[in-house]
Amino acid sequence: MEDENNIEKTKSIKSKYMGRTLLLLTHILIVWGLYTTSFYENSQLSILNNLRVVAFFFWILLLTCQIRTSFSDPGEVLQKNVPIKLQLVHDMYNKKCKKCNQWKPPRAHHCKRCNKCIFKMDHHCEWENNCIGALNQKYFVLFLIYMLLHILTLLSIHSIGISEYFMNSKRKIIPILMTITIKKCQILGILLLCFFFIIFVSQLLWDQITAINDNQTVIESRQGKFGRQQSFVNNFKQVFGDQEWYYWLLPTKPKMKLNYAELVYGEELIKQGTQYLEDIIYDETNPASIHFKEFMLDNYSKQKQ
Ligand SMILES: [Zn+2]
Ligand SMILES: [Zn+2]
Repeated sequence: MEDENNIEKTKSIKSKYMGRTLLLLTHILIVWGLYTTSFYENSQLSILNNLRVVAFFFWILLLTCQIRTSFSDPGEVLQKNVPIKLQLVHDMYNKKCKKCNQWKPPRAHHCKRCNKCIFKMDHHCEWENNCIGALNQKYFVLFLIYMLLHILTLLSIHSIGISEYFMNSKRKIIPILMTITIKKCQILGILLLCFFFIIFVSQLLWDQITAINDNQTVIESRQGKFGRQQSFVNNFKQVFGDQEWYYWLLPTKPKMKLNYAELVYGEELIKQGTQYLEDIIYDETNPASIHFKEFMLDNYSKQKQ
């Protein structure tokens, strides 16, 4: 048992250092990428200088989003935030985290790396050295978006810069390509890395968009479970906050109320139309609220089947 714990600990430390190294490498590459845009400083085209400002702007945004993803609370389940009604059904629902020894909301998951229960835990991101959960998913998605926009801007700068260089050069293309210089090697290296990161970041971003659309975390997708099914806009607001649209673009704290009563459903239960069950707990005017316990029990037994 102790051996198993030690192996787990060593794995965790290895992943932590690998994640930090990858993150440091990413930032070094980004700064290097920005430096290579200075090769076109003497360009006659003003668009190149404008694009360099845009790339710098996206870099500041992605850096802020990355810091917020890594250092903000992903949604640790705090017992003081658990509604009294839920505490009452605590024993009945009987879903306790064995590690934290406390009540665990149906949409929470215990993260071994963080050693905490995280509400709507999507995954533990080694790259960010933090969990991605209900409270920091917005920062993570914005980080991916600004990273992608930054890379696309870098690619545009190099494409325009290289085209201008060939057009102004009196020499033929082949002899130019045959002469190797440090600058050319750096541009080639950055272009290759840009293509690699476009594929890597697009894949991560697509996974996040799908998760928001389906109201399903990565962990829930493995279990074949979903959150309540509603429109994309409503799902989006659960991650990005219910506020003016321009806040969605900034790494500001999303305005939202965590609903620990939210349930997870298998596909069969969704078809039966029980997706609004969790609303009952907060709606005192709803007569069904009186029968809340029965609803919880009924749903719990259905989930167990
Ligand atoms: Zn836990
Ligand atoms: Zn974690």
